[in-house]
Amino acid sequence: MKVTVVGGGLAGCEAALQLTQQGYLVRLIEMRPKRSTEAHHTDSLGELVCTNSFKSENPTNAHGQLKREMRALGSVLLRSADISRVPAGSALAVDRTLFTKAMTAAVEAESAIEILREECTSLPNGPSIIATGPLTSNLLSEAIQQILGDGGLSFFDAIAPIVHRDGVDENVVFAAGRFDEDSDYLNCPMSEQEYLAFVEALRDGEAHEGHDWDAVPYFEGCLPIEVMASRGVDTLRFGPMKPIGLTDPRTGERPWAVVQLRREDRAGQMWNLVGFQTRLQIGEQSRIFKSIPGLSDAEFLRWGSIHRNSYLNFPGCLSPFGSSRVRTNLVFAGQLTGVEGYTESAASGILAGINLGRSLSGEEPLIPPPTTMLGGLFRYLRNADPSHFQPMNSNWGLVDPLSQRIRSKRERRELLAQRANEDFFVWMERSGLRLDTTEARV
Ligand SMILES: Cc1cc2nc3c(=O)[nH]c(=O)nc-3n(C[C@H](O)[C@H](O)[C@H](O)COP(=O)(O)OP(=O)(O)OC[C@H]3O[C@@H](n4cnc5c(N)ncnc54)[C@H](O)[C@@H]3O)c2cc1C
Repeated sequence: MKVTVVGGGLAGCEAALQLTQQGYLVRLIEMRPKRSTEAHHTDSLGELVCTNSFKSENPTNAHGQLKREMRALGSVLLRSADISRVPAGSALAVDRTLFTKAMTAAVEAESAIEILREECTSLPNGPSIIATGPLTSNLLSEAIQQILGDGGLSFFDAIAPIVHRDGVDENVVFAAGRFDEDSDYLNCPMSEQEYLAFVEALRDGEAHEGHDWDAVPYFEGCLPIEVMASRGVDTLRFGPMKPIGLTDPRTGERPWAVVQLRREDRAGQMWNLVGFQTRLQIGEQSRIFKSIPGLSDAEFLRWGSIHRNSYLNFPGCLSPFGSSRVRTNLVFAGQLTGVEGYTESAASGILAGINLGRSLSGEEPLIPPPTTMLGGLFRYLRNADPSHFQPMNSNWGLVDPLSQRIRSKRERRELLAQRANEDFFVWMERSGLRLDTTEARV
């Protein structure tokens, strides 16, 4: 049986190779060089559109753990990265030309893969994986929108930072909603002086310049926090930082302004700063947001961003395994599914390849347990609130919390990583998945 994979990027290459390992023939359709995107510059498969780093390899880092899981599953991205790596401390960084050469060679060497260089303008018939990334071409985007319906596909993300609950200072923040009946929010109260200094810092903060094609058409309801701050000193106090309906139990008074934190996950580990979508540079976000009362020691699991990014509302319109709900042999993979980052996109491609292959041969699709990084990421995609869905990168807030609370961040991460690794290999064995012993570094 032949499976079509659209998009020869990081996710598409992984998916294609996973399918061939299960004995399928693959037609891989990549539009470059006939037609390119605004960010790609070559005709290579698996081109890196920006940084040459795949982030940390430290096993106690969330990105390091994701890599361990990907290695065990035989990731072509990591095999290619190992061949092309350059010194970068604990990060895995590559010579990008050697990297894409290795990716291209690995796919071309597979005789079961036929590579077509053309733009795919409609959804292919038959079993298919769509992995066309954040810059999916317009005609295909229209076809995807048609099958998924309104609200299925977004073209820009507007990401607010997320903090881990454990680092939020309980002596400062208080739980309360603006309406008596809900106390679902955590509130960081600010005095007038703190608020004025905060607005000043936002106004002076350095933002990302971005490319012309990345120019974001800001919507009034979703402006970057620094843009709101620049519109007037009280704009935020009458907007996302309004204190109306909130009384600080420690003072018995209404704060001058508040930063509200809203729960991202059911376990209550991840909390986002409501309305704090931003284009500030990461160093600036760290400096300015850590000045918010109650967040000075908070661990930021995700930084804010706003950029052009085509992505699907996974929890709102896809099956738990990433397929169309009306056509189960049409599976989506990569950044398009609402994961964020090179390795996350590639990991999503690996699972899409495994699961489409399994379902074509009548087997149940597989998702690792939520104590693992890949399992935690997929649980987020499945269970996130569709009305607030924004892309997500790997972080330790995604996995189940440990049974007991560990205050030391280092010790907590060591235990989380050890558990994730053990559970991942048990899951692979139980699922009958072959461990890639050449690549797995356990
Ligand atoms: C400008 C930019 C910078 C980024 N920088 C980083 C970064 O520094 N670090 C990081 O971790 N992540 C970054 N990302 C996010 C993300 O990790 C990458 O975009 C990653 O390449 C996504 O992998 P993918 O396989 O889903 O998509 P891609 O790697 O983009 O692959 C999709 C492929 O599909 C092809 N395609 C598109 N439409 C069609 C069509 N209709 N027919 C046939 N082929 C088609 C494209 O040419 C492309 O080769 C960035 C994203 C963008 C847009």
